[in-house]
Amino acid sequence: MYHYSPSQVRKIRACERVWYFDKVLGVERPETEAMRAGRAIHAELEAWVRSGIVPSIPAAREASRTVPRDPALVPELAVAEILSERVALIGAIDLLDLRDPTHPIVTDYKTLGDWRYMLAPYALALDVQMCSYAYAVLEQLPSADACTIRHLYIKRTGVRAVPPRLVQTVISRAHVARQRIAALKTMRRGDALRVLPALENVPATGDPDECVRYAGCWYWERCKPVKHSILPPDSARRPEGAEYATIDTVSPEVRATLLKTQKDRAEYEATAAEFRATIARLTSAHVQK
Ligand code: SF4
Repeated sequence: MYHYSPSQVRKIRACERVWYFDKVLGVERPETEAMRAGRAIHAELEAWVRSGIVPSIPAAREASRTVPRDPALVPELAVAEILSERVALIGAIDLLDLRDPTHPIVTDYKTLGDWRYMLAPYALALDVQMCSYAYAVLEQLPSADACTIRHLYIKRTGVRAVPPRLVQTVISRAHVARQRIAALKTMRRGDALRVLPALENVPATGDPDECVRYAGCWYWERCKPVKHSILPPDSARRPEGAEYATIDTVSPEVRATLLKTQKDRAEYEATAAEFRATIARLTSAHVQK
């Protein structure tokens, strides 16, 4: 089986070719200082919620003041869902708050260098990652009609740590269901891209903004020679009723990466079972209070 994560869905929507570079060709990007700092802050906040270990990184310590410790708060909860015989959806919720099981609160920590990268609440409501996590949680809580989703923004740069900023909004079960359908459609698109034989077959769907955003697309130099095939070449369009290509028809390079990233179904099932058990344990603890 292979999997999608919400960030892969976001990537396919931003530019199909970026996703193909990352997930099908398996191009390794070097880790940046910002990524390292973000991971360290996440780890310290997880240790704070799980074991009460006070963070040593000033930005994480500052953020921990806004994160209470409570047995009904679950840090770093792995999510997995089997979507079909071949595909799973995975992720990890930074902080799940089930103190009121009729209204769960899902929080994701976002580390950034500048506040201007924060999402507005209406954009947060459309965020594929937050909607996917809300869907997974609401599926286990039939009595909940809505979910609060939150981004806790933590500034990792600057001489002194500053208090984090919170952006949150409430999304209904119906909204989550609509976003879910959109995400599934994107994953179907990924299925079709996954078995294209080579980069030249993948449409460069990134709009010009995507190509030059921030420091520019990491793949610009490799993409440029084929960049102007902006419209999907015929080989990238699947005629109505035609079968997708199979793993046996792709190039050896693509096949090797696809095989490397596949896991046993049992691994995904174990994560999904653990997710369900955690939520069941917390909700039954709430009922017994
Ligand atoms: S340069 Fe633009 S079109 Fe090419 S992979 Fe990057 S974002 Fe996509």
